Amino acid sequence: MPKLRLKSPIVEMDGDEMTRVMWQWVKEELVLPFVEVDLVYFDLSLENRDRTDDQVTVDAANAIKQYGVGVKCATITPNAQRVAEYNLKQQWRSPNATIRGILDGTVFRTPILVSRVPPIVRSWQKPITIGRHAYGDVYANQEYRVPGAGKAELVFTPADGAAPVRYTIHEFKGPGIVQGIHNRDDSMQGFARACFMLGYDMKVDVWLGVKDTISKTYDARFRQIFEEEFETNWRARYEAAGLTFFFTLIDDAVARVMRSPGGFLWACKNYDGDVMSDMLASACGSLAMMSSVLVSPNGYFEYEAAHGTVQKHYYRHRAGEETSTNSMALIAAWAGALRKRGELDGTPEVVGFADRLEKAALETVESGIMTADLVRLATPSPEIRQVNTLEFIRQVRIRLENMN
Ligand code: NAP
Ligand code: MG
Repeated sequence: MPKLRLKSPIVEMDGDEMTRVMWQWVKEELVLPFVEVDLVYFDLSLENRDRTDDQVTVDAANAIKQYGVGVKCATITPNAQRVAEYNLKQQWRSPNATIRGILDGTVFRTPILVSRVPPIVRSWQKPITIGRHAYGDVYANQEYRVPGAGKAELVFTPADGAAPVRYTIHEFKGPGIVQGIHNRDDSMQGFARACFMLGYDMKVDVWLGVKDTISKTYDARFRQIFEEEFETNWRARYEAAGLTFFFTLIDDAVARVMRSPGGFLWACKNYDGDVMSDMLASACGSLAMMSSVLVSPNGYFEYEAAHGTVQKHYYRHRAGEETSTNSMALIAAWAGALRKRGELDGTPEVVGFADRLEKAALETVESGIMTADLVRLATPSPEIRQVNTLEFIRQVRIRLENMN
């Protein structure tokens, strides 16, 4: 079977610890033997970020802007303990936050469902993708512990010198708390665009739930912006594809999600997305069975695993012990990047390869061959065989070769 040649490059971002080890194996066993691709490589290991004063992260993000598609390994976000462990110049920012800042993206997470690990919610037959708006709300708030009686006010001072606008929040008779949050139209527009773009890409309906009956200005603005974006740029395309945009109150959305068969994209405000994506991940089993993509409103795509660098497994690996770490999410990230590259380049044979790669990984688990994390979650069966980290990847390769 001759290798497939990709028309355009993919930006590759290497990372840390156990995921760095698996990254290499996935690339050598499941990608490079089958496709010829220009990988624009950036080493985002903590050592190299420190050496380059984190310039490498900025360069990688700019390369994604240039080429459109990137694939990223998990990376350490340093805390004080890591600063000491790696003797760092400083506590560098989270690379994901840096990249998200430069690409202005929304993160979408989708569980990878296998029949051997049934979701806890029995009605879910197809994955639910959560799109979490990663800007504003309580994550960029100002809050105050009110010490005693007094008046809390919302004050806006226009930049053009016009008179300030004031609203009374509460006349306190005693101690309490107060919080100020904000959002920006351009950020909400980018969020809406990214949701409709990915929903269309995945051929699924888009849901939005907010509390606009109570929050008639703040939450209502999210609804307005989604509706405007949908009417202006998406309605015709969605209708042609048999897809819809569904708005409902957030509490109704939650109730419907629990009874739905799945198979839609759920656009969530920042806090809702934070909470609901953890619910979704735990209801579907494991972080290692969750794919993640950053979609920028300008049409750049970055694929990654939802989990971290699996530090504990790495220390065991480094000590020469055997590990059974799950590479499904990393394989899904490579498959996602290759598929998107194929779509953007108009090369269906590359899309086909990405589909086969994903299918080979799923079939491996369905055949009963899996890593320890899944063995713990799977419906017991005599077919289940626990394998080590590399053996799992080699088993996927055997299936992939048989499909080619
Ligand atoms: P983690 O790497 O996600 O691992 C936490 C635990 O989840 C592991 O100890 C393991 O449980 C299980 N797990 C996660 N991925 C697994 C996989 N592929 N296969 C099998 N089990 C898996 O989180 P962490 O240990 O809290 O964080 C480690 C480092 O990752 C931190 O330095 C953090 O900054 C970084 N991080 C990076 C990203 C990113 O780049 N996207 C995201 C989150 C965290 P058991 O030990 O029970 O087997
Ligand atoms: Mg959370």
